[in-house]
Amino acid sequence: DTHKETRSFQTEVSQLLHLMINALYSNKEIFLRELISNASDACDKLRFEALSDDALMEGEGELQIQVAYDKEARTVTIRDNGIGMSRDDVIENIGTIARSGTREFLGQLTGDQQKDAHLIGQFGVGFYSAFIVADRVTLTTRRAGMGAEHGVRWSSDGTGEFTVETVERPERGTEVVLHLKEGEDEFLDDWRLRHIITRYSDHIPLPIRMPKRDDEGNATEEWETVNRASALWTRPKGEISDEEYQAFYKHVAHDFEEPLAWTHNRVEGRHEYTSLLYIPKRAPFDLWDRDRRHGIKLYVQRVFIMDDAEQLMPAYLRFVRGVVDSNDLPLNISREILQNNRIIDGIRSGSVKKVLGLLEDMAKNEPEKYQTFWDAFGRVLKEGPAEDYANREQIARLLRFASTHTGEATQNVSLADYVARMKEGQDTIYYITADNHTAALHSPHLEVFRKRGIEVLLLSDRVDEWLVAHLTEFEGKALKSVAKGDLDLGETETEEEKKAQQEAEEQVKELLPRIQEALGERVQEVRFSHRLTDSPACIVLSENEMALYMQQLLKQAGQ
Ligand code: ADP
Ligand code: MG
Repeated sequence: DTHKETRSFQTEVSQLLHLMINALYSNKEIFLRELISNASDACDKLRFEALSDDALMEGEGELQIQVAYDKEARTVTIRDNGIGMSRDDVIENIGTIARSGTREFLGQLTGDQQKDAHLIGQFGVGFYSAFIVADRVTLTTRRAGMGAEHGVRWSSDGTGEFTVETVERPERGTEVVLHLKEGEDEFLDDWRLRHIITRYSDHIPLPIRMPKRDDEGNATEEWETVNRASALWTRPKGEISDEEYQAFYKHVAHDFEEPLAWTHNRVEGRHEYTSLLYIPKRAPFDLWDRDRRHGIKLYVQRVFIMDDAEQLMPAYLRFVRGVVDSNDLPLNISREILQNNRIIDGIRSGSVKKVLGLLEDMAKNEPEKYQTFWDAFGRVLKEGPAEDYANREQIARLLRFASTHTGEATQNVSLADYVARMKEGQDTIYYITADNHTAALHSPHLEVFRKRGIEVLLLSDRVDEWLVAHLTEFEGKALKSVAKGDLDLGETETEEEKKAQQEAEEQVKELLPRIQEALGERVQEVRFSHRLTDSPACIVLSENEMALYMQQLLKQAGQ
């Protein structure tokens, strides 16, 4: 009994497949990169699981990936002897997209190929990219450690349905056969396939093999390795080209785009490890999703240990992608052990320094690139001062804000820029928080600052209240809300202004108690203010009170 069944793709998969095939067509050769990337991941997983259960290797220890084609049958085959999949694995992994934000993502697709290609790239297509060039894909697999009778065959033409059945499969691992569409015969070519492999997959640390050809160009029984097959991060920096770094990034980050920057370091001394860390160009779709994957792959002595090692990066740097390879950790390390591990802590703080240093260099030397970074990830980095007290000064130098200096919504003013423009006698960095940029820019609290020519930072991201609660000074200058407590602009006031203020205060002396009486319990105090120039009155919070915006947020959250 093979339990052959036909199932429908999750609606989202069908939609994605349809759109993807058109949008990515001009880049169709990437299907091979994606399938090799999966094969490599599968071998990594097997090697890791076999650390605690040697039997999974089934006596066949050499992990490899094979690529072959058949001109007659018009197929291209990608085969690995990695971890494989059970029937449930297949149904779950290939046929559904279990990612939050999928619907929003699909809603953003426009039919404009170039725009969509970017979006789809950000989302990641992986296995489904096979359907760019194939009109039928058959995947046959067996999970390592299960009997030959637990093989599974999955097949689909990519239009809406797939079949799964149980088959006999003595070999462990996965084989993907692409039945090429009419007109895609260019991939039935030895040279073409080798070229794609060396271009996109040279860095894969396992041998990728193709049949050896004889002098007439006919395939022999022998296989030969096509790629360099050494882990990229273990090679000396000077020998790695930008293209190689970029290709490796796409594999580890499951991203289609080039990274913005990277830092590659071999650390020796008390702890020995290598890190290769990347800053992506764009925020992934699920940047704000709490359950999303983290970005760092952990290796121990070249052996893959785990994806998403969240202990290796603090949450405010969760956009960083890459690998860390330690020489000191035990091979049998578990997530639990990672929790409170001195070696991990050391690697983490070293890696944080590298990333912050990379960003600082970028901010200094490539401000436009830094702006791209900031626009994508600034709101995440703003969590830094609260989370990472030790590095808060360095993080503070990396922050960018909108400000009354330009009045524009772009966040491109650093605290150092602000300090450099401070008025004589001014010793405070002023900011205002509001729930959007326009509200901040038009707040009556700004009137007196405008009149005095004092710059005010305009904060309107959700995280900003949290940020300023933890970042109270910068280079000895206090950060202060223009909407809180007493405003002492005395140091920037002229004698004339002071006199005018006193006269005005004298005039309204009678009025204040009457307003106070009328408002009663609703206010704490009614007082004369130096804040306003045009508006007659405004609401001010006492120093310790939460900003109005924060209060509204909590109210919305039902607190
Ligand atoms: P991603 O690689 O980003 O997870 P893919 O669409 O490329 O997304 O693959 C989906 C899932 O299918 C993988 O996460 C993996 O669980 C499974 N998979 C794909 N190819 C293989 C393979 N060759 N061996 C084992 N599992 C695989
Ligand atoms: Mg993949």
